[in-house]
Amino acid sequence: MVFTHHYCAKCASEQIRRNGHSGGRAKYQCKACGHQGYFQPASVEKARQYSQVDQLLVERNSLWSIVRTRGMVRNTIAKRVKKVLRPAPASV
Ligand SMILES: [Zn+2]
Repeated sequence: MVFTHHYCAKCASEQIRRNGHSGGRAKYQCKACGHQGYFQPASVEKARQYSQVDQLLVERNSLWSIVRTRGMVRNTIAKRVKKVLRPAPASV
């Protein structure tokens, strides 16, 4: 089972609760400081995860070690291999 932790963007407190939604995105309210905001969208988290995987690929970690440590699907990382480690185009 995967748990995600959300923190207040203003005070980094974990004491937040859902506070409705707007534009298809869930909003939260911090009980500690009263700050209201949106949960971080999934695409930002995914971009951060991809950049970590790209860095691991550049450091020449094996595909299976990245699968094991990051908990990602092998095919997703195989696609990143093609993008990140693409050979430079041959100059004529
Ligand atoms: Zn707060």
